[in-house]
Amino acid sequence: MFRKILIANRGEIAARVIRTARKMGIATVAVYSDADAGALHVAMADEAVHIGPSPVGESYLRGDRIIEAAIRTGAEAIHPGYGFLSENPDFVDQVTAARLVFIGPSSASIRAMGLKDAAKRLMEKAGVPVVPGYHGEAQEIVVLASKAREIGYPVLIKARAGGGGKGMRRVDDPDRFAEELAAARREAKAAFGDDRVLVEKYVEKPRHIEIQVFGDNHGGAVHLFERDCSAQRRHQKVIEEAPAPGMTAEMRKAMTDAAVKAAKAIQYSGAGTIEFIVDASHGLKSDRFWFMEMNTRLQVEHPVTEMVTGLDLVEWQLRVAAGEKLPKSQKEIMLSGHAFEARIYAEDAAKGFLPAIGTLHYLRFPDRAEGGTVRIETGVREGDAISPYYDPMIAKLVVHGDDREAALGALADALDHVRTAGSITNTSFLAALARDPDFASGNVDTGLIGRKQEELTRTRTAGASVSALAALAVANADSGGGKSADPWSSLTGYAHFHPISRRTALGYGEEPVEARVTARGGGRFEAEVEGASFAFFADAVSGRAALWPGHVTVFDGPSGYTFSAPDPLARDTDAVSGAASLRAPMPGLVKIVRAAAGDIVAKGQALLVLEAMKMEHTIAAPHDGLITEIASEGAQVTDGTVLVRFKEEETV
Ligand code: ADP
Ligand code: ADP
Ligand code: MG
Repeated sequence: MFRKILIANRGEIAARVIRTARKMGIATVAVYSDADAGALHVAMADEAVHIGPSPVGESYLRGDRIIEAAIRTGAEAIHPGYGFLSENPDFVDQVTAARLVFIGPSSASIRAMGLKDAAKRLMEKAGVPVVPGYHGEAQEIVVLASKAREIGYPVLIKARAGGGGKGMRRVDDPDRFAEELAAARREAKAAFGDDRVLVEKYVEKPRHIEIQVFGDNHGGAVHLFERDCSAQRRHQKVIEEAPAPGMTAEMRKAMTDAAVKAAKAIQYSGAGTIEFIVDASHGLKSDRFWFMEMNTRLQVEHPVTEMVTGLDLVEWQLRVAAGEKLPKSQKEIMLSGHAFEARIYAEDAAKGFLPAIGTLHYLRFPDRAEGGTVRIETGVREGDAISPYYDPMIAKLVVHGDDREAALGALADALDHVRTAGSITNTSFLAALARDPDFASGNVDTGLIGRKQEELTRTRTAGASVSALAALAVANADSGGGKSADPWSSLTGYAHFHPISRRTALGYGEEPVEARVTARGGGRFEAEVEGASFAFFADAVSGRAALWPGHVTVFDGPSGYTFSAPDPLARDTDAVSGAASLRAPMPGLVKIVRAAAGDIVAKGQALLVLEAMKMEHTIAAPHDGLITEIASEGAQVTDGTVLVRFKEEETV
């Protein structure tokens, strides 16, 4: 087995790989860009190497720098994760040429499956059913249009180099073919630098069912059953599960046989996924599924397979790459229970799933759920920023239950207890989907989310009781209690004012919210909002609100309601309070640092220069004090990031 490996990725998948490596006693090397200097995967690894600026083209896609980092640190193998360089055969060749091991298939296998058109021709030859369509070389519009007519509308135009649902257009009307073709080509050119397309039949009532396969370097090939990824939005997976609802023994045998045949046809080694499209208009029928593509890497949704098989797929990848045989034979691989995975993203579902950025000022995941077990795969921690440079995935929430009903209940319950503040997330949309009656009955197809988008993304407005909670949180913090993000971690502050009542001005959207909060003593509070009065016991509301710069977020089931609030945390930077920390007033770059930890500084002394919005801002000491921590030069910060920490409660 390897003694040390390098992980050529970031975020949750880098963290995931490091976890298994550690379990196996393998040392790990992380790589990181400027924006990721303080990222979780860097903190988790035994060593970390900086490989360049934040844009992926200058860091995570720089194969040369990554290989150099591996050589320099003495790593013997490189795990590519998914995305980035994971399906780049030239990178694999470079890794091999440097006498390192690529933890994945051979470059030949990746090339065979890399382009969807060539892969389909190859699979046809191997006897795997392929979606009816045209996957030839010709690209003239007259040829493609006549092929589309032969195939029969609706058709799907697909970028042959496509991935992540990009460069794909459904065409229902022959008159629109030329226009959609041009659009698909533009998108493909921009995303993949290759505008060649194929045309295939658009399958009715489509379900996406994929088979996890594994091969080794000794000719072994097995499958680890199926995953259903039909809950999609714009051809991108949203919730995945295993096994597939309604799966029959006959259908499973046909699909897994075809998948293993496909893997064997290219002498596949390592983890791979054969994606099939299924026509579910008459249930699951063994002559109604077709090969779509093969992903020659670990899939984002691999944890659902791990949950139902009890196997560690990353461990299998490492063993196979080190030359071992597959750890289990086909008949030793068993299915148990049911699992779901939901992808939690920083995006605004109600605004057409607009990607969001921001700082995760508050981030709490449940560790258990009603009816099942919970597993969280994440690459971020509370206080981390979702930057515009990378995929805005915050976490994958994975649950397992004895059967589909139990697992689905656990999924909904767990989603209700995901609490984030500082960046908008799709959690309430996911919770609504988990409770959708069609989804619950297993009657899913890839169009389900699109058809029900409006009801699944409908936001509720904050009721008076939610506003009252927000007011209480702010009033308590304002008077000195609950300085931390959880306003009820300390109630001392508000207790000082007992029994005085205070007015709190909040904002919800464009609307001002006026509230009056009264402490009654003994942990009892009263809040009056819009003429209605609410009584709370502090311990009953603990954990239901988070304060972050300029805001308070109240959690109610799967929804989070964010109010603007007079900034209770800003008090931290107040010159008279003996403040413990100084936070960035806006996102920017730490340009110059003029002090170091251990320095005693005087009030007004320039500590650092922040470059933001094309201007330089000098950050000065708000009071005399001893610095315990200071940001480093070149760090990218978001608003609210701590720039300087002073020794607590002490002025010199
Ligand atoms: P999956 O079937 O695993 O969801 P996707 O094709 O959606 O596969 O891509 C998996 C991950 O890789 C996603 O997070 C996506 O953003 C990322 N990804 C896909 N294609 C690329 C690419 N060309 N470069 C970088 N990342 C990519
Ligand atoms: P990508 O490389 O972007 O993942 P895929 O070929 O895997 O591309 O297709 C992505 C998604 O598009 C599928 O999961 C499915 O929902 C939809 N899709 C692909 N081909 C078809 C088809 N022939 N008919 C209907 N839907 C399809
Ligand atoms: Mg795909």
